[in-house]
Amino acid sequence: MTAGRFHPGPEHQEIVFLTGSGISARTGLGTFRGPQGLWALEPETERAMHAHLLPGTLPQLWSVWGRMARIATSHGPTPGHRAIARLGAPVITQNIDGLHQAAGSEIVAELHGSALFAVCLDPRCDWRAPLEPGEGEYPEDHGVPSSCPRCGAPTRPDVVLFDEQLPPDALDLAMRLAQRADLFVAVGTSGVVFPAAQLAPLARAHGATTVLVDIDPPPGSSALFDHVLAEDAHEVLPDWERRLHRVGGTSFLDPFLS
Ligand SMILES: [Zn+2]
Repeated sequence: MTAGRFHPGPEHQEIVFLTGSGISARTGLGTFRGPQGLWALEPETERAMHAHLLPGTLPQLWSVWGRMARIATSHGPTPGHRAIARLGAPVITQNIDGLHQAAGSEIVAELHGSALFAVCLDPRCDWRAPLEPGEGEYPEDHGVPSSCPRCGAPTRPDVVLFDEQLPPDALDLAMRLAQRADLFVAVGTSGVVFPAAQLAPLARAHGATTVLVDIDPPPGSSALFDHVLAEDAHEVLPDWERRLHRVGGTSFLDPFLS
């Protein structure tokens, strides 16, 4: 692509998206890293995100992730989420807000879990249940019991903390999606943090064209991606969808048809 900005064409049959907090930022969910990110603004919250401090930090976890889930649920998906869903493309996401599923995406690899679900604190127990996003430090504030109905251990939000493994099923799905992509598009993620930093090169090694859509691309991103679009994903992605589906491509708008 030498002229004009990149957009997908009919040659792209397997588009796979990788999304990060940037795609949800306009819902009021802040990004996490960077000077205006949640970790910088709320150092106490950042400290509570370490698994080795459990279970003492459970009230903070419920409070923070319950609030996130509530903000996300009440706002709903963005134009970017909706365009990705209408493209029918699978998504690998670092987000825990459930907004891809809310937009209608069917294949979503949630690398960092989901704030819309509760799990048992005991990793050997497989209890998991949807929650009702609320406000407060107690599981009951979010519509789930404080003790696991299966084993009696405390419950927690199903969100991956800093020193925890990524869910193996989600990671495996992400790797398979990256390998089968012919167009791999990262949106709203720096692409420099694991596993995002590995997925784009993996897709590229398997023949995909790699694209970053980020209004403020991080330094070094042009080495990871074939195309870097420093634009608003909420404009770029709906535009891609219109082009691919020819929505609005009616003859009276087309100067070459009469
Ligand atoms: Zn349990």
